[in-house]
Amino acid sequence: MRTVYSAADPVMAGFIENLLQEAGIPAYVNQAGLYSAAGEVPPTETWARIMVVHEEQAEEARAIILEYFEGEPQHDGENWKCSRCGEVIEPQFTQCWNCGREKPKS
Ligand SMILES: [Zn+2]
Repeated sequence: MRTVYSAADPVMAGFIENLLQEAGIPAYVNQAGLYSAAGEVPPTETWARIMVVHEEQAEEARAIILEYFEGEPQHDGENWKCSRCGEVIEPQFTQCWNCGREKPKS
């Protein structure tokens, strides 16, 4: 299981869950806080997380989410590393999908 998106709004989380399921990707909403990462309490802890069941579908799921929000995916730029949680984020994301931190201005 893998988090592909965090949403402060549970309605939005449910919408994205449906979006992925319609695309054939098994997904569900995890109300964060029930499962907190060991040793880490991100400020987005109360956000709903959209999880995919199959980790290998995480990239596809994120692409679908991104396409919905921003239109055509952009592949320019380089991966960046979240300064809060250390997750490596693809260039088309402007904030960390894991903890919600904004991409640092370089
Ligand atoms: Zn992060």
